[in-house]
Amino acid sequence: MHFSDCIVLSGPELQPFHCASFRVEDANIVELDLVEPVQRIESGAMVLMPGLVNAHTHMGDSFLPDGATGLTLEEGFFRPDGFKYREIAKLDRAAHVDHMSDALRYMAATGTVAHVDFREQGPDGAARLKEASAATGVRSVILGQFDSVPFDLDELTENMAGLSPDSLAELEAMLQIADGFSESTMNDLTDPAWKEIRELTDSRGKARAVHCLENEGYRNVSLERTGRGDLIQAIELYAPDLIVHVTVANDEEIERLARSGITVVLNPRANANLGLPLPPVAKLLNAGVNLLLGTDNGLLNSPSMLAELDFTYKLAKSQYGDSIRPDPREILKMATSNVAKTRWGRELPGALTVGGPATFSAMNFHQAHLRRSAHILASILCRVTPADVLQTVRNGQTLYQAK
Ligand SMILES: [Zn+2]
Repeated sequence: MHFSDCIVLSGPELQPFHCASFRVEDANIVELDLVEPVQRIESGAMVLMPGLVNAHTHMGDSFLPDGATGLTLEEGFFRPDGFKYREIAKLDRAAHVDHMSDALRYMAATGTVAHVDFREQGPDGAARLKEASAATGVRSVILGQFDSVPFDLDELTENMAGLSPDSLAELEAMLQIADGFSESTMNDLTDPAWKEIRELTDSRGKARAVHCLENEGYRNVSLERTGRGDLIQAIELYAPDLIVHVTVANDEEIERLARSGITVVLNPRANANLGLPLPPVAKLLNAGVNLLLGTDNGLLNSPSMLAELDFTYKLAKSQYGDSIRPDPREILKMATSNVAKTRWGRELPGALTVGGPATFSAMNFHQAHLRRSAHILASILCRVTPADVLQTVRNGQTLYQAK
């Protein structure tokens, strides 16, 4: 695979350069002949950027686009009887894998090479997504969830019980298939269970993640039961690789997050679509928290990172209160090189370098709306659409090629 006379967003800082020759052999970039930095173009170019990473999805419910319209967060998405759980349970297995494969192909067509998924349905749920990932070449980082909540309300309120032998067996089986564990909220399990899960995932070398502070209810229930908010519980008890949402995090919580060094995944479009407050992007950036972006539930949002980048950039500017901050590169990093600071940094460095993985997408800046871009990075955030993606490649393998 070879591209000549193009523009490449080089390295983790995503600096655009004119590039005389970009060559791939097998899975890696073997030549990157950078000529000079460039910000604006006059008459079009092919632009190569690192493949986008969608750091939070639930592709298991992608088969019902906009299906939760008119429902609250609790009615649509909470266990045990939320709309999405009822609808997923009705689906035939083979049809479900096909629906997820379609969603992954759409991701590839919009420049995305990998996603981190909270997968319902226990071990079989993880296996279904693994099949869709194998069928499409898109990397699914699968974080499995118990098929049903292991505790009833009394047990959760008492907060004393550990996982039953059946739940432990389910967890073991899930970790055989999945990359790690996820749970909807810290309020779905007991303190002893969180400790058991932390130990088991550590001993198996597996990842952990959880939603926190999506709304005030998450914090309030946790405070009532444990005397601490759900975010503090997550940091101290569970020490996850990823904390998702932090929509209503206050200044003190943001400071705790920054000190913990834990990576946060924001999903501003999903929050907005549920009528929730928008996440404090500007404050999190100022505090130095490592940020990634996700599109959340397939039934809430299209899994296009191009749409998420646009929304997040505008949101951050509005929160900063001026037209200067943040630098567009800080937003694009949330879908690319910030992944390097997580446990997946080796396989998904989110940067184009000689010797690194050939994982990128090619964008057609010859299109009329892009060919005179005065700021290439800002145009990627604000103007590139799925129709401008020409090719998406992961480890040298083409996942998507425009016709
Ligand atoms: Zn989610």
